[in-house]
Amino acid sequence: MATHRSIVVLSGAGVSAESGISTFRGVNGLWNNHRIEEVASPEGFARDPDLVHRFYNLRRRQLLDPQTRPNAAHLALARLERSFPGEFMLVTQNIDDLHERAGSSRLIHMHGELLKARCGACETVAVRYDDIDSADTCGHCGARRALRPHVVWFGEMPMRLEEIYTALGGCDLFLAVGTSGHVHPAAGFVDVARRAGAATVEVNLETSVTESMFQRRILGAAAAVLPVLVDELLDGTR
Ligand code: NAD
Repeated sequence: MATHRSIVVLSGAGVSAESGISTFRGVNGLWNNHRIEEVASPEGFARDPDLVHRFYNLRRRQLLDPQTRPNAAHLALARLERSFPGEFMLVTQNIDDLHERAGSSRLIHMHGELLKARCGACETVAVRYDDIDSADTCGHCGARRALRPHVVWFGEMPMRLEEIYTALGGCDLFLAVGTSGHVHPAAGFVDVARRAGAATVEVNLETSVTESMFQRRILGAAAAVLPVLVDELLDGTR
């Protein structure tokens, strides 16, 4: 593969699937037992905060289970960041912290982070490893019943979009891994990168909604494909 000077990677739930974290849709998808609006929208939270907290508390416990670890896909992306001499940005739709645990640091969590809570009154974001209860008080401003998961719900604006679009506009390789292409604006990133002249590569276990937008598609599990693809990308820089 040609040498690149600036890489943007978009990761989705498929990257964490082999770590045992359920994907969004698909068989055993997270949401099979819930309607998305119930647990992932501001309206759902206003209607039944206890249900929403229970849902995210379970996700948080699963993430903190010692069995849940970064897999070879997370590790390969951290190695790419470490060894690639050009610019690099990893944008993840995942709210888990498996990329960080694998060693990634030039990372944007565009849909927020499961291990943080945000106060609806003062907007303070705090790390949170234990269960959140709707009756909890904000440790910063003391507001009661104001804490919510620090995640982006449907109808809300993803985080740090300006930085992401700047990186997309300047990249010459855009790689999307384990994302179905159903959720916007992330699904449109390939188009922005393509119009900026970047090469585009998709890695997915099956066909995605946006697959026709990519120049190169690699069908396979991220944990098997990424270590090889990262070798290939780094070879081009030696
Ligand atoms: P999605 O569930 O819509 O799509 C997952 C994609 O990954 C599918 O296209 C599937 O074919 C592919 N896939 C599954 N296993 C794979 C593997 N081993 N290797 C490669 N590809 C694989 O997920 P999405 O596109 O990321 O959008 C989902 C939304 O749900 C995001 O907003 C995200 O915040 C949220 N979410 C996050 C997590 C997490 O933090 N781990 C988990 C579920 C959902």
